[in-house]
Amino acid sequence: MTYVSTRGKHSEVTAAGAIAQGISQDGGLFVPKTLPHISDERLSLLLDKSYTERACDILSGFLTDFTKDEIDESVSMAYGGEKFGSGNVAPIVKLSPRLYMLELFHGPTCAFKDMALQLLPHLLTLSAKKTAGDKKIAILVATSGDTGKAALEGFRDVEGTEIIVFYPKDGVSGIQQLQMATQEGANIGVCAVSGNFDDTQNGVKAIFTDEKLKQRLTEKNMMFSSANSINWGRLVPQICYYASAYCDMVKNGEIALGERVNVCVPTGNFGNILAAYYAKHMGVPFKKLICASNANNVLTDFINTGVYDRRREFILTSSPSMDILISSNLERLLFELYEKDDDAVKLLMKKLSADGVYSVSANVARKLKDELYGGFSDEADTAKTIRDTFKAYAYLLDTHTAVGLKVANDYIEKTGDAAKIIIAATASPFKFTGSILSAITGESSGLDEFEQAKKLSGITGAEIPPRILAMKDKPVRFTEYCEKSGMEDYVIKTLGL
Ligand SMILES: *Cc1c(COP(=O)(O)O)cnc(C)c1O
Repeated sequence: MTYVSTRGKHSEVTAAGAIAQGISQDGGLFVPKTLPHISDERLSLLLDKSYTERACDILSGFLTDFTKDEIDESVSMAYGGEKFGSGNVAPIVKLSPRLYMLELFHGPTCAFKDMALQLLPHLLTLSAKKTAGDKKIAILVATSGDTGKAALEGFRDVEGTEIIVFYPKDGVSGIQQLQMATQEGANIGVCAVSGNFDDTQNGVKAIFTDEKLKQRLTEKNMMFSSANSINWGRLVPQICYYASAYCDMVKNGEIALGERVNVCVPTGNFGNILAAYYAKHMGVPFKKLICASNANNVLTDFINTGVYDRRREFILTSSPSMDILISSNLERLLFELYEKDDDAVKLLMKKLSADGVYSVSANVARKLKDELYGGFSDEADTAKTIRDTFKAYAYLLDTHTAVGLKVANDYIEKTGDAAKIIIAATASPFKFTGSILSAITGESSGLDEFEQAKKLSGITGAEIPPRILAMKDKPVRFTEYCEKSGMEDYVIKTLGL
């Protein structure tokens, strides 16, 4: 299995090469040249397997330059022990006869990002050993809240790595900010940036491609890599949980093997839903991919019109991890829909950065609508969904997952499609206590984050994740703050370049 860049398909790299580099030299993203196939028969063999066994099976099709032992060990370090609690790593909870919540937030930082970022450090250090000699890896992360904490936790004190996280100063929740500011570990830097997530992400991309910095890193025997979902090593672990979720649906008797189900994903950078797309095209019987956005509904418009137009106001919402106007991973989908035409992708991405807008061909627009349904939820509907769902099912949604459920319900209403829907539940409600509490009680409280969590737990009976409670007594280590233009200096200072 080899990988090519979405902007240059003629040079091929191994999985280790793609993961170590993070982003291709030509600015494109690495994608598998062909997808491994999962037949119903192969799925049936996975039915009685554990999460880790299923993950090893799926990963082995993609990581063909890793040994079986390397994959097994990495997977058991990532998902074994008590890291994801004592139960199933990614359990499915049946909400109603048609709606199923795939809970992806039982990892160390209470968001689905853990599913990938507990595994990535192992894949990345192995990849660097295979392809980059003894180079130390400097991970740069731009985060809209959850990736930052999950990456810090995954990479903390991992030998041969340094990690620096940038987050938009006013663009994350109070708990998210605390989670990052109190992070432990010796190889870590955290800095707030004035600006929104797109500014932060662009700043990091610019540092990655800065030749002068690259030179200085080389002199220090270091290299940059990325823990954002532009890194293939972030996406491939996510494909595993979609295959596993399908197996659980069959195993639990909810569907027959081969029966097609829809998947609904609250979407920001288009990583999580893209993993579902790959799973589908490998052969997992998925039907429609329902792409749910918050008020930053650039993807909804894109799916409905074929025009991607980021020239709009950036709105800060109660689902901050989806406050994004440039969804990086869409480039990978375009590459597939354009039948691997790297020149076409290059042109669209050039247009996006020059004009902030592009349109796809009529043929691709049709395919886009065929694969995806796009919808969005505004702030009022998101709050209402949280309240109504708690009332009807005693199930507590986080703000992001509520966006997903709202759009899934809209989809059913609009299309009448009777297929079952798996909804990705992407975070614990206790990461966004203020918004959840006000959605349920109808008023905003003057309480601090921990008092809010206690109150929410008191009202709903839901347990506060111990790791969130434990932050209360942790010292704040990181208070640094810079302008977008100061991100490079922060990197130079932190890495001692
Ligand atoms: C990151 C995140 C999302 C969006 O996922 P993408 O892969 O960026 O589309 C949704 N919900 C939560 C809680 C997240 O942390």
